[in-house]
Amino acid sequence: MTDIPESHPRYISLKTREMLVEGVEEGITSKAGLIAHGRGEAFDYIIGEETISSSERAERYAVKLMKEAKNAVISVNGNVAALVPDSIVKLSERLDAKLEVNLFHRTDKRMEKIEGKLRDNGAEKVLGLEPDEKIPGLDHARALCSSEGIYSSDVVMVPLEDGDRAQALSAMGKTVITIDLNPLSRTSQVSDVTIVDNIIRAVPNMIELEPLDESFSNEENLSEVLRYMSSRLLKLS
Ligand code: ATP
Repeated sequence: MTDIPESHPRYISLKTREMLVEGVEEGITSKAGLIAHGRGEAFDYIIGEETISSSERAERYAVKLMKEAKNAVISVNGNVAALVPDSIVKLSERLDAKLEVNLFHRTDKRMEKIEGKLRDNGAEKVLGLEPDEKIPGLDHARALCSSEGIYSSDVVMVPLEDGDRAQALSAMGKTVITIDLNPLSRTSQVSDVTIVDNIIRAVPNMIELEPLDESFSNEENLSEVLRYMSSRLLKLS
């Protein structure tokens, strides 16, 4: 890794990029994943690179739903595995959720590498490598999933997800939770709970936060996030 001094004002952001570049070099992250991260970063700049209170509420509500689920599953892709390998495993333990590798750019090699990364970080069981079911409405590679995991899940967390898959999972009647810095993405719009926060903050937060014991509307929460972004931009203008 390039030696970035901790005193650099953009240390965390640069370090995060380095983790993704390393993910590409290790065969975990796709090149397209780098571009997706760049889109996320732009929105992170707008919220001030911190967890805003509306997003913390969404994180707490997601914790509640995952804890109450019969079969909670966390879907892991190449960006998630590169950025939060340790905390995603801890979160799955805290929430009693299964881990399933699911890739947009699926190759057996990447699937195995990601499984290995999760196991190196303490995961005992990782689903997805031997898919035996398909998500209806998606083309072959992207539809593949595990009957024990995503296919039969009632609550599924799909961080940094593609809109088509989020929509297809929602059409299966699942409660869909996403982490996505872009409140306007199709994934953000179709999910039941959208956490507009950087995954590097959201997942560690969710390990610590108490479940939300109040009503929650995703539509209202997304509106609050958009108003926050707008007012911050106005203040800065
Ligand atoms: P959609 O298909 O949902 O409309 P998209 O075409 O942007 O969105 P992708 O590029 O597949 O979909 O998804 C990546 C999403 O993840 C983007 O919306 C991006 O903002 C978000 N994202 C990228 N990096 C991070 C991160 N570190 N934390 C949170 N969100 C992120």
